[in-house]
Amino acid sequence: MFDKFHDECGVFAIYGHPEASKLANLGLYALQHRGQESAGIASLHNDTIICRKAMGHVADVFTNPILAELKGESAIGHTRYSTAGDTVELNAQPFNVMCNKGAIAVAHNGNITNAINLRNELEQDGSIFQATSDTEVILHLVARSREKTMAGALRDALLQLEGAFSLVFLAEKHVIVARDPHGFRPLAFGQLELSGGKVAYVFASETCAFDLINAVYISDVEPGEMVIVGPEGITRQRYAPIAEKAHCVFEHVYFARPDSLVFGKSIAHSRERMGRLLAQQCPADADIVVPVPDSGVAAALGFSAESGIPYRQALIRNHYVGRTFIEPSQTIRDFGVKLKLNPVRHLLEGKRVVLVDDSLVRGTTSRKIVRMVRSAGAKEVHLRISCPPTISPCFYGVDTPTKGELIAANNTLEGIRRFTEADSVAYLPLSALSEAVEDTKQEYCYACYTGNYPTHLINIEELVNNKAMIGV
Ligand code: AMP
Repeated sequence: MFDKFHDECGVFAIYGHPEASKLANLGLYALQHRGQESAGIASLHNDTIICRKAMGHVADVFTNPILAELKGESAIGHTRYSTAGDTVELNAQPFNVMCNKGAIAVAHNGNITNAINLRNELEQDGSIFQATSDTEVILHLVARSREKTMAGALRDALLQLEGAFSLVFLAEKHVIVARDPHGFRPLAFGQLELSGGKVAYVFASETCAFDLINAVYISDVEPGEMVIVGPEGITRQRYAPIAEKAHCVFEHVYFARPDSLVFGKSIAHSRERMGRLLAQQCPADADIVVPVPDSGVAAALGFSAESGIPYRQALIRNHYVGRTFIEPSQTIRDFGVKLKLNPVRHLLEGKRVVLVDDSLVRGTTSRKIVRMVRSAGAKEVHLRISCPPTISPCFYGVDTPTKGELIAANNTLEGIRRFTEADSVAYLPLSALSEAVEDTKQEYCYACYTGNYPTHLINIEELVNNKAMIGV
């Protein structure tokens, strides 16, 4: 069954470019921060889908000979992170099958919350599954649809899904993309001018993928929208009834790159505002503002600008180490902090420090960093977090641990301060986070900070406390 329910991923799609797979490779390269465990590209050549995927980073998986095999003018790509137990190549995407509607490949960012129920029903009816990922369910639903066309069958399938999904499909003549009706995960739409007045259409989790290939951002794929690109041109259609929007605020807090537009808004801008509001609402009497690189940099700049306390890069990051949180084993993760960060004693000695990070999850990383800063001579360490306390797991595609492991779910602020060994700890209030992302129409999901999940979840108590399997 499904080993897990929180794939952090990046997706990319391109239609109508003679070097489609090379551009998909570049697009994935720019989306590498969304997942570092496996990478894959499927391309369409003479109505046949060619798929190459493997464990590893994009740059290692897609060598020139592999890219040369991925011929064709359309392609989709995927980069993925998953937790231990599920790190198998079998689950690397795109998934690629031949079914009664023809050849189809799919790549998915998000989490389908009713996948277990759907899979149980499908298995009872004789479907055979190869992987443990929720995405495979979609292909079975497509194959079983009575609709004749691929687009019709996809619509049929999508209407049975619950939860978070930004999906890119490659079919025999088309690239089709779709976003769940709540719009949990991002999906941007852009264009690339070709010689002779032609255009290629591109789709990506974040606009930083467009910048690298000189594509222009046009709009987001709307929540509940399906976009079909083929020889007949491009069609945008709503496949699902209008639902309340629930954009993942954690994309703005941590996940997306600062140079991206996500949900149509600049990440750098919203993070700086988080830092400014943090300085206003949780001030600290200190000599220097120090970010935890890289995740705390934009907020620390905002904190410094607002408070007038000088910004100092007093923690130096080794960029050749992967994100520690993303390492699958706890032993490596523990060692990782030291491997990744080194304090600058010269800047810290005798100073009262405001240490800014984007989030506190288990608290273990922060404790090590606080210790590190203090042992490099800091007189005081005031921890400032540019989001509210994380008290509930995410079921929509972000990797958060069980409630039992979330420090803020089980401790008072004073308990957190003691655990992290900081002189003071303060979090950005929820109202300030909403202000920072300019959520004037209540279009964001804050479930990890409130425990209020915007969709119906089966066995919610069990899920939240035990992080039991999702079908969810
Ligand atoms: P900790 O409090 O020790 O669990 O780790 C907090 C650190 O992990 C912060 O620096 C965050 O930037 C980072 N972090 C938070 N959530 C995630 C996530 N879903 N994936 C990767 N890193 C994360």
